[in-house]
Amino acid sequence: MPAPTIPAAVPAPAVPTAATVPADPTAPQPLTLFLRQTEQRFGVRIACKRFDPDTVRIRFGAFRIRSYSLDETLDNLLRPADLVWSRRNDPDGRPRITVRPYEYHRRTPADGEKLLRWLASLAPDSASWEHRRTMLLAEARAALDLGPFLRGLAADPDVRLGRAVRRDGYTTQNYALETLPGLYVCGTIYAPLTKGPHPLIVSPAGHWEGGRYRPDQQLRMATFARMGAVAVDMDIFGWGDSERQVGRDAHTQRYSMQIQTLWSKAVTDWVLAARRDIDTARLAATGGSGGATHALLLALVDGRFAALAPVVHLVSHFDGGCPCESGRPVTLAGGGSCMPELLAAVMAPRPTLVVSDGGDWTATCPTLEYPFLQRIWGFYGAADAVRNAHFADERHDYGANKRRAVYAFFAETLGLDPAQADESRVELLPESALRSFGDELPERALRSRDELERMLEKLE
Ligand SMILES: [Zn+2]
Repeated sequence: MPAPTIPAAVPAPAVPTAATVPADPTAPQPLTLFLRQTEQRFGVRIACKRFDPDTVRIRFGAFRIRSYSLDETLDNLLRPADLVWSRRNDPDGRPRITVRPYEYHRRTPADGEKLLRWLASLAPDSASWEHRRTMLLAEARAALDLGPFLRGLAADPDVRLGRAVRRDGYTTQNYALETLPGLYVCGTIYAPLTKGPHPLIVSPAGHWEGGRYRPDQQLRMATFARMGAVAVDMDIFGWGDSERQVGRDAHTQRYSMQIQTLWSKAVTDWVLAARRDIDTARLAATGGSGGATHALLLALVDGRFAALAPVVHLVSHFDGGCPCESGRPVTLAGGGSCMPELLAAVMAPRPTLVVSDGGDWTATCPTLEYPFLQRIWGFYGAADAVRNAHFADERHDYGANKRRAVYAFFAETLGLDPAQADESRVELLPESALRSFGDELPERALRSRDELERMLEKLE
Protein backbone atom coordinates (compact mmCIF):
# COMPACT_ATOMS: atom_id res chain seq x y z
CA MET A 1 0.00 0.00 0.00
CA PRO A 2 1.50 3.39 -0.92
CA ALA A 3 2.17 5.78 1.92
CA PRO A 4 -0.49 8.48 2.23
CA THR A 5 0.71 11.84 1.01
CA ILE A 6 -0.36 15.28 2.17
CA PRO A 7 -1.60 17.39 -0.77
CA ALA A 8 0.67 20.38 -1.32
CA ALA A 9 -2.27 22.83 -1.10
CA VAL A 10 -2.95 21.96 2.54
CA PRO A 11 -0.56 23.78 4.88
CA ALA A 12 1.11 21.48 7.38
CA PRO A 13 -0.40 22.14 10.81
CA ALA A 14 1.85 24.00 13.18
CA VAL A 15 3.25 21.82 15.92
CA PRO A 16 2.47 23.34 19.30
CA THR A 17 5.56 24.68 21.01
CA ALA A 18 6.19 25.31 24.66
CA ALA A 19 5.24 28.96 24.16
CA THR A 20 1.66 28.03 23.14
CA VAL A 21 1.12 25.64 26.03
CA PRO A 22 -0.03 27.66 29.04
CA ALA A 23 1.63 27.05 32.40
CA ASP A 24 -1.66 25.90 33.87
CA PRO A 25 -3.83 24.57 31.04
CA THR A 26 -6.78 24.06 33.39
CA ALA A 27 -7.06 27.75 34.39
CA PRO A 28 -9.66 30.00 32.69
CA GLN A 29 -7.94 31.99 29.97
CA PRO A 30 -9.10 34.53 27.37
CA LEU A 31 -10.75 33.04 24.30
CA THR A 32 -8.48 35.26 22.17
CA LEU A 33 -5.52 33.04 23.04
CA PHE A 34 -7.19 29.89 21.73
CA LEU A 35 -8.60 31.57 18.64
CA ARG A 36 -5.09 32.72 17.70
CA GLN A 37 -3.80 29.18 18.19
CA THR A 38 -6.65 27.86 16.03
CA GLU A 39 -5.77 30.37 13.28
CA GLN A 40 -2.16 29.19 13.28
CA ARG A 41 -2.92 25.49 13.33
CA PHE A 42 -5.49 25.50 10.57
CA GLY A 43 -4.34 28.43 8.42
CA VAL A 44 -7.65 30.31 8.74
CA ARG A 45 -8.64 33.85 9.67
CA ILE A 46 -11.04 34.28 12.59
CA ALA A 47 -13.07 37.44 13.15
CA CYS A 48 -15.34 38.11 16.13
CA LYS A 49 -18.53 40.12 15.76
CA ARG A 50 -20.61 41.79 18.45
CA PHE A 51 -18.41 40.66 21.34
CA ASP A 52 -14.82 41.00 22.56
CA PRO A 53 -13.00 37.64 22.82
CA ASP A 54 -10.70 39.13 25.47
CA THR A 55 -13.68 39.29 27.83
CA VAL A 56 -14.65 35.62 27.38
CA ARG A 57 -12.65 33.18 29.50
CA ILE A 58 -12.46 29.49 28.66
CA ARG A 59 -11.57 26.68 31.05
CA PHE A 60 -9.46 23.80 29.73
CA GLY A 61 -9.07 25.67 26.45
CA ALA A 62 -5.89 23.84 25.39
CA PHE A 63 -7.69 20.53 25.83
CA ARG A 64 -10.56 21.61 23.60
CA ILE A 65 -8.36 21.96 20.52
CA ARG A 66 -8.57 19.01 18.11
CA SER A 67 -5.59 19.26 15.81
CA TYR A 68 -7.26 16.94 13.29
CA SER A 69 -10.48 18.96 12.97
CA LEU A 70 -11.12 22.69 12.69
CA ASP A 71 -14.86 22.14 13.05
CA GLU A 72 -14.54 20.16 16.25
CA THR A 73 -12.05 22.64 17.67
CA LEU A 74 -14.39 25.57 17.06
CA ASP A 75 -17.40 23.70 18.43
CA ASN A 76 -15.50 22.70 21.57
CA LEU A 77 -14.15 26.17 22.23
CA LEU A 78 -17.26 28.18 21.43
CA ARG A 79 -20.33 26.23 22.46
CA PRO A 80 -19.71 26.45 26.23
CA ALA A 81 -19.64 30.25 25.85
CA ASP A 82 -22.88 30.29 23.79
CA LEU A 83 -20.96 31.45 20.73
CA VAL A 84 -21.52 30.21 17.17
CA TRP A 85 -19.36 30.28 14.05
CA SER A 86 -19.75 30.33 10.30
CA ARG A 87 -17.27 29.89 7.46
CA ARG A 88 -16.75 31.48 4.08
CA ASN A 89 -13.75 31.92 1.84
CA ASP A 90 -11.97 35.24 1.36
CA PRO A 91 -11.28 36.33 -2.23
CA ASP A 92 -7.80 34.76 -1.93
CA GLY A 93 -9.42 31.41 -1.17
CA ARG A 94 -8.38 31.38 2.48
CA PRO A 95 -11.15 30.36 4.86
CA ARG A 96 -12.54 33.06 7.12
CA ILE A 97 -14.35 32.08 10.28
CA THR A 98 -16.80 34.52 11.86
CA VAL A 99 -17.65 34.04 15.52
CA ARG A 100 -20.65 35.74 17.07
CA PRO A 101 -22.95 35.36 20.07
CA TYR A 102 -25.73 32.85 19.53
CA GLU A 103 -28.68 34.49 17.79
CA TYR A 104 -32.02 32.78 18.23
CA HIS A 105 -33.32 34.30 15.02
CA ARG A 106 -30.46 33.22 12.75
CA ARG A 107 -29.67 29.71 11.51
CA THR A 108 -27.75 28.39 8.52
CA PRO A 109 -29.09 27.53 5.06
CA ALA A 110 -28.28 23.89 5.91
CA ASP A 111 -30.51 24.23 8.99
CA GLY A 112 -33.18 25.78 6.79
CA GLU A 113 -33.05 22.84 4.41
CA LYS A 114 -33.47 20.36 7.26
CA LEU A 115 -36.33 22.38 8.74
CA LEU A 116 -38.20 22.64 5.43
CA ARG A 117 -37.79 18.90 4.82
CA TRP A 118 -39.24 18.20 8.26
CA LEU A 119 -42.08 20.66 7.78
CA ALA A 120 -42.89 19.07 4.42
CA SER A 121 -43.02 15.66 6.09
CA LEU A 122 -45.60 16.99 8.58
CA ALA A 123 -47.96 17.91 5.75
CA PRO A 124 -47.61 15.29 3.02
CA ASP A 125 -51.06 16.00 1.58
CA SER A 126 -53.72 18.65 1.41
CA ALA A 127 -55.74 17.40 4.40
CA SER A 128 -52.75 17.29 6.75
CA TRP A 129 -51.67 20.73 5.54
CA GLU A 130 -55.09 22.20 6.30
CA HIS A 131 -54.89 20.77 9.79
CA ARG A 132 -51.40 22.19 10.30
CA ARG A 133 -52.37 25.51 8.78
CA THR A 134 -55.22 25.98 11.24
CA MET A 135 -52.88 25.25 14.13
CA LEU A 136 -50.12 27.50 12.75
CA LEU A 137 -52.40 30.49 12.35
CA ALA A 138 -53.89 30.10 15.82
CA GLU A 139 -50.54 29.65 17.52
CA ALA A 140 -48.77 32.41 15.57
CA ARG A 141 -51.56 34.87 16.44
CA ALA A 142 -51.40 33.78 20.08
CA ALA A 143 -47.61 34.27 20.09
CA LEU A 144 -47.93 37.74 18.61
CA ASP A 145 -50.50 38.57 21.31
CA LEU A 146 -51.88 41.65 19.64
CA GLY A 147 -55.16 41.53 21.61
CA PRO A 148 -54.27 43.95 24.41
CA PHE A 149 -52.95 46.45 21.86
CA LEU A 150 -56.09 46.24 19.70
CA ARG A 151 -58.32 46.60 22.76
CA GLY A 152 -56.23 49.59 23.82
CA LEU A 153 -56.79 51.59 20.62
CA ALA A 154 -58.08 55.11 21.34
CA ALA A 155 -61.89 55.03 21.21
CA ASP A 156 -62.08 58.42 19.51
CA PRO A 157 -58.72 58.75 17.77
CA ASP A 158 -57.30 62.11 16.82
CA VAL A 159 -56.65 62.27 13.06
CA ARG A 160 -54.51 64.94 11.43
CA LEU A 161 -54.94 64.92 7.67
CA GLY A 162 -52.73 67.16 5.57
CA ARG A 163 -53.67 68.77 2.27
CA ALA A 164 -53.86 66.47 -0.76
CA VAL A 165 -51.19 67.83 -3.11
CA ARG A 166 -51.62 67.15 -6.80
CA ARG A 167 -48.56 65.72 -8.60
CA ASP A 168 -48.09 64.25 -12.09
CA GLY A 169 -50.82 61.59 -12.16
CA TYR A 170 -51.28 61.21 -8.39
CA THR A 171 -51.69 63.04 -5.11
CA THR A 172 -49.79 62.87 -1.83
CA GLN A 173 -51.44 63.50 1.50
CA ASN A 174 -49.72 63.17 4.86
CA TYR A 175 -51.56 61.85 7.86
CA ALA A 176 -51.12 61.39 11.61
CA LEU A 177 -53.45 58.84 13.20
CA GLU A 178 -53.70 58.34 16.94
CA THR A 179 -53.53 54.61 17.71
CA LEU A 180 -52.98 53.81 21.38
CA PRO A 181 -53.85 56.89 23.48
CA GLY A 182 -51.37 59.62 22.58
CA LEU A 183 -49.32 57.41 20.26
CA TYR A 184 -49.54 58.54 16.64
CA VAL A 185 -48.58 56.69 13.47
CA CYS A 186 -47.60 59.00 10.64
CA GLY A 187 -47.34 58.36 6.93
CA THR A 188 -48.40 59.41 3.47
CA ILE A 189 -51.31 58.38 1.28
CA TYR A 190 -50.46 58.28 -2.43
CA ALA A 191 -53.70 58.25 -4.44
CA PRO A 192 -54.66 58.13 -8.12
CA LEU A 193 -56.35 61.11 -9.78
CA THR A 194 -59.06 58.83 -11.17
CA LYS A 195 -62.28 57.94 -9.38
CA GLY A 196 -62.44 54.60 -7.67
CA PRO A 197 -62.93 51.99 -6.70
CA HIS A 198 -59.19 51.41 -6.34
CA PRO A 199 -57.13 48.62 -4.87
CA LEU A 200 -55.32 49.49 -1.63
CA ILE A 201 -51.61 48.68 -1.22
CA VAL A 202 -50.31 48.96 2.33
CA SER A 203 -46.56 49.26 2.64
CA PRO A 204 -44.79 49.02 5.99
CA ALA A 205 -41.24 50.40 5.75
CA GLY A 206 -38.05 48.37 6.18
CA HIS A 207 -35.03 49.28 8.27
CA TRP A 208 -33.08 51.07 5.55
CA GLU A 209 -31.87 54.44 6.79
CA GLY A 210 -34.35 57.14 5.82
CA GLY A 211 -37.35 54.84 6.29
CA ARG A 212 -40.41 55.85 4.33
CA TYR A 213 -38.80 59.10 3.10
CA ARG A 214 -36.24 57.27 0.94
CA PRO A 215 -36.34 57.95 -2.81
CA ASP A 216 -36.87 54.26 -3.66
CA GLN A 217 -39.93 54.12 -1.38
CA GLN A 218 -41.36 57.35 -2.83
CA LEU A 219 -40.84 56.02 -6.38
CA ARG A 220 -42.64 52.82 -5.50
CA MET A 221 -45.56 54.36 -3.63
CA ALA A 222 -46.16 57.11 -6.21
CA THR A 223 -45.95 54.61 -9.08
CA PHE A 224 -48.54 52.38 -7.43
CA ALA A 225 -50.81 55.43 -7.30
CA ARG A 226 -50.11 56.38 -10.91
CA MET A 227 -51.00 52.79 -11.87
CA GLY A 228 -54.36 53.11 -10.12
CA ALA A 229 -53.95 52.00 -6.50
CA VAL A 230 -54.31 53.95 -3.29
CA ALA A 231 -50.95 53.30 -1.61
CA VAL A 232 -50.28 54.07 2.03
CA ASP A 233 -47.07 53.88 4.02
CA MET A 234 -46.18 54.57 7.62
CA ASP A 235 -43.14 55.30 9.74
CA ILE A 236 -41.20 52.61 11.43
CA PHE A 237 -42.14 52.77 15.10
CA GLY A 238 -39.53 55.03 16.75
CA TRP A 239 -38.28 56.48 13.45
CA GLY A 240 -39.31 59.60 11.53
CA ASP A 241 -42.17 61.50 13.14
CA SER A 242 -42.46 58.67 15.68
CA GLU A 243 -38.90 59.31 16.88
CA ARG A 244 -40.05 62.75 18.02
CA GLN A 245 -42.63 61.07 20.24
CA VAL A 246 -40.89 58.09 21.80
CA GLY A 247 -37.22 58.19 20.69
CA ARG A 248 -35.44 55.66 18.54
CA ASP A 249 -34.60 53.27 21.38
CA ALA A 250 -38.30 52.45 21.73
CA HIS A 251 -38.01 50.53 18.47
CA THR A 252 -35.84 47.83 19.98
CA GLN A 253 -37.99 47.20 23.07
CA ARG A 254 -40.07 44.09 23.70
CA TYR A 255 -43.34 45.68 22.50
CA SER A 256 -41.97 46.87 19.16
CA MET A 257 -43.31 43.96 17.08
CA GLN A 258 -46.79 44.43 18.48
CA ILE A 259 -46.86 48.19 17.99
CA GLN A 260 -45.57 47.96 14.42
CA THR A 261 -48.19 45.33 13.57
CA LEU A 262 -50.86 47.35 15.34
CA TRP A 263 -49.94 50.35 13.21
CA SER A 264 -50.24 48.39 9.94
CA LYS A 265 -53.64 47.12 11.04
CA ALA A 266 -54.92 50.44 12.40
CA VAL A 267 -53.88 52.33 9.25
CA THR A 268 -55.54 49.71 7.03
CA ASP A 269 -58.79 49.88 8.99
CA TRP A 270 -58.73 53.67 9.12
CA VAL A 271 -58.10 54.09 5.37
CA LEU A 272 -60.89 51.64 4.57
CA ALA A 273 -63.30 53.44 6.90
CA ALA A 274 -62.34 56.97 5.87
CA ARG A 275 -62.20 56.59 2.10
CA ARG A 276 -65.07 55.61 -0.16
CA ASP A 277 -62.89 54.80 -3.16
CA ILE A 278 -61.35 51.46 -2.05
CA ASP A 279 -62.35 48.07 -3.41
CA THR A 280 -62.05 45.85 -0.33
CA ALA A 281 -61.67 42.76 -2.51
CA ARG A 282 -58.35 44.12 -3.75
CA LEU A 283 -56.21 44.69 -0.65
CA ALA A 284 -52.49 44.04 -1.01
CA ALA A 285 -49.32 44.61 0.97
CA THR A 286 -45.65 44.82 0.15
CA GLY A 287 -42.48 45.75 1.95
CA GLY A 288 -38.75 45.18 1.72
CA SER A 289 -36.65 43.42 4.36
CA GLY A 290 -38.31 44.13 7.74
CA GLY A 291 -41.18 45.65 5.75
CA ALA A 292 -41.75 42.18 4.30
CA THR A 293 -42.11 40.77 7.81
CA HIS A 294 -44.66 43.43 8.59
CA ALA A 295 -46.58 42.87 5.35
CA LEU A 296 -46.86 39.22 6.41
CA LEU A 297 -47.83 40.06 10.00
CA LEU A 298 -50.50 42.43 8.73
CA ALA A 299 -51.97 39.67 6.58
CA LEU A 300 -51.72 37.31 9.57
CA VAL A 301 -53.91 39.56 11.72
CA ASP A 302 -56.22 40.72 8.90
CA GLY A 303 -57.46 37.93 6.66
CA ARG A 304 -58.65 40.22 3.86
CA PHE A 305 -55.39 40.57 1.93
CA ALA A 306 -55.77 39.34 -1.64
CA ALA A 307 -52.12 39.62 -2.72
CA LEU A 308 -48.75 39.95 -1.00
CA ALA A 309 -45.28 40.84 -2.27
CA PRO A 310 -42.61 40.29 0.40
CA VAL A 311 -39.26 41.56 -0.92
CA VAL A 312 -35.76 40.36 0.08
CA HIS A 313 -36.70 38.58 3.30
CA LEU A 314 -38.72 35.63 4.68
CA VAL A 315 -36.37 32.66 4.44
CA SER A 316 -36.25 29.40 6.37
CA HIS A 317 -33.02 30.22 8.21
CA PHE A 318 -33.43 33.83 9.34
CA ASP A 319 -36.40 35.37 11.12
CA GLY A 320 -35.13 38.96 11.05
CA GLY A 321 -32.94 40.15 13.89
CA CYS A 322 -34.80 43.24 15.00
CA PRO A 323 -37.19 42.95 17.98
CA CYS A 324 -39.90 44.39 15.71
CA GLU A 325 -39.60 41.24 13.56
CA SER A 326 -38.66 38.47 15.96
CA GLY A 327 -39.40 39.94 19.37
CA ARG A 328 -42.44 37.69 19.71
CA PRO A 329 -42.03 33.93 19.18
CA VAL A 330 -44.29 33.53 16.15
CA THR A 331 -41.91 31.09 14.43
CA LEU A 332 -42.30 28.66 17.35
CA ALA A 333 -45.90 28.09 16.20
CA GLY A 334 -46.82 24.53 15.31
CA GLY A 335 -43.96 22.98 17.26
CA GLY A 336 -41.41 24.98 15.24
CA SER A 337 -42.02 26.82 12.00
CA CYS A 338 -40.39 29.55 9.91
CA MET A 339 -41.48 32.64 8.02
CA PRO A 340 -42.00 30.88 4.65
CA GLU A 341 -44.33 28.31 6.22
CA LEU A 342 -46.24 31.09 7.97
CA LEU A 343 -46.43 32.93 4.65
CA ALA A 344 -48.02 29.82 3.12
CA ALA A 345 -50.43 29.46 6.05
CA VAL A 346 -51.50 33.09 5.70
CA MET A 347 -51.66 33.45 1.91
CA ALA A 348 -52.02 30.15 0.01
CA PRO A 349 -53.59 29.92 -2.54
CA ARG A 350 -53.81 33.70 -3.00
CA PRO A 351 -51.32 35.46 -5.31
CA THR A 352 -47.94 35.96 -3.66
CA LEU A 353 -44.69 37.22 -5.16
CA VAL A 354 -41.45 36.45 -3.32
CA VAL A 355 -38.63 38.74 -4.48
CA SER A 356 -35.08 37.62 -3.71
CA ASP A 357 -31.49 38.27 -4.73
CA GLY A 358 -28.05 36.66 -4.73
CA GLY A 359 -26.46 39.21 -2.42
CA ASP A 360 -28.23 38.50 0.88
CA TRP A 361 -29.78 35.63 2.83
CA THR A 362 -32.55 35.28 0.23
CA ALA A 363 -30.00 33.76 -2.17
CA THR A 364 -31.48 30.40 -1.13
CA CYS A 365 -35.04 31.26 -2.22
CA PRO A 366 -35.00 29.68 -5.71
CA THR A 367 -33.70 26.34 -4.46
CA LEU A 368 -35.02 26.12 -0.88
CA GLU A 369 -37.98 28.30 -0.02
CA TYR A 370 -39.69 28.68 -3.37
CA PRO A 371 -40.09 24.94 -4.09
CA PHE A 372 -41.45 24.56 -0.54
CA LEU A 373 -44.05 27.27 -1.22
CA GLN A 374 -44.97 25.89 -4.65
CA ARG A 375 -45.69 22.51 -3.11
CA ILE A 376 -48.18 24.05 -0.66
CA TRP A 377 -49.84 26.27 -3.27
CA GLY A 378 -50.01 23.07 -5.34
CA PHE A 379 -52.37 21.56 -2.73
CA TYR A 380 -54.90 24.10 -4.00
CA GLY A 381 -54.08 23.52 -7.68
CA ALA A 382 -52.54 27.00 -7.64
CA ALA A 383 -48.77 26.47 -7.89
CA ASP A 384 -48.70 29.26 -10.49
CA ALA A 385 -50.11 31.79 -8.02
CA VAL A 386 -46.91 31.87 -5.98
CA ARG A 387 -44.02 33.41 -7.88
CA ASN A 388 -40.36 34.04 -7.26
CA ALA A 389 -38.57 36.94 -8.94
CA HIS A 390 -34.90 36.30 -8.26
CA PHE A 391 -32.09 38.73 -9.09
CA ALA A 392 -28.88 36.76 -8.74
CA ASP A 393 -26.55 39.73 -9.28
CA GLU A 394 -28.32 42.13 -6.94
CA ARG A 395 -28.02 42.98 -3.30
CA HIS A 396 -30.29 43.64 -0.32
CA ASP A 397 -32.56 46.44 -1.48
CA TYR A 398 -35.95 47.27 -3.03
CA GLY A 399 -34.20 48.47 -6.19
CA ALA A 400 -35.50 49.33 -9.65
CA ASN A 401 -35.63 45.78 -11.06
CA LYS A 402 -37.40 44.49 -7.98
CA ARG A 403 -39.88 47.34 -8.14
CA ARG A 404 -40.58 46.53 -11.79
CA ALA A 405 -41.30 42.91 -10.84
CA VAL A 406 -43.74 44.08 -8.16
CA TYR A 407 -45.42 46.56 -10.55
CA ALA A 408 -46.02 43.75 -13.04
CA PHE A 409 -47.32 41.45 -10.31
CA PHE A 410 -49.77 43.99 -8.91
CA ALA A 411 -50.82 45.04 -12.42
CA GLU A 412 -51.83 41.44 -13.05
CA THR A 413 -53.34 40.60 -9.66
CA LEU A 414 -54.97 43.93 -8.75
CA GLY A 415 -55.89 45.15 -12.24
CA LEU A 416 -53.51 48.14 -12.25
CA ASP A 417 -52.45 49.87 -15.46
CA PRO A 418 -48.94 48.64 -16.38
CA ALA A 419 -48.56 51.46 -18.91
CA GLN A 420 -48.33 53.92 -16.00
CA ALA A 421 -45.37 52.17 -14.35
CA ASP A 422 -43.09 55.04 -15.33
CA GLU A 423 -40.98 56.22 -12.41
CA SER A 424 -39.62 59.19 -14.37
CA ARG A 425 -42.94 60.94 -13.76
CA VAL A 426 -42.61 60.74 -9.99
CA GLU A 427 -41.66 63.87 -8.08
CA LEU A 428 -39.17 63.07 -5.32
CA LEU A 429 -40.04 65.15 -2.28
CA PRO A 430 -37.78 66.36 0.51
CA GLU A 431 -38.32 64.67 3.84
CA SER A 432 -39.88 67.85 5.22
CA ALA A 433 -42.70 67.61 2.65
CA LEU A 434 -43.61 64.10 3.87
CA ARG A 435 -43.51 64.84 7.59
CA SER A 436 -46.92 64.79 9.25
CA PHE A 437 -46.17 66.85 12.34
CA GLY A 438 -45.33 70.53 12.09
CA ASP A 439 -43.18 72.27 14.67
CA GLU A 440 -45.47 71.23 17.49
CA LEU A 441 -46.67 67.75 18.41
CA PRO A 442 -50.45 67.39 18.88
CA GLU A 443 -51.59 68.33 22.36
CA ARG A 444 -52.40 64.79 23.46
CA ALA A 445 -49.21 63.25 21.96
CA LEU A 446 -46.94 61.18 24.16
CA ARG A 447 -43.57 62.85 24.47
CA SER A 448 -41.16 60.21 25.76
CA ARG A 449 -40.52 56.49 25.95
CA ASP A 450 -41.32 56.65 29.68
CA GLU A 451 -44.77 58.08 28.94
CA LEU A 452 -45.28 55.36 26.34
CA GLU A 453 -44.33 52.58 28.73
CA ARG A 454 -46.58 53.93 31.50
CA MET A 455 -49.45 53.86 28.98
CA LEU A 456 -48.57 50.31 27.84
CA GLU A 457 -48.65 49.07 31.44
CA LYS A 458 -52.38 49.85 31.52
CA LEU A 459 -53.18 47.61 28.52
CA GLU A 460 -55.25 44.57 29.38
ZN1 LIG B 1 -37.25 46.73 13.62
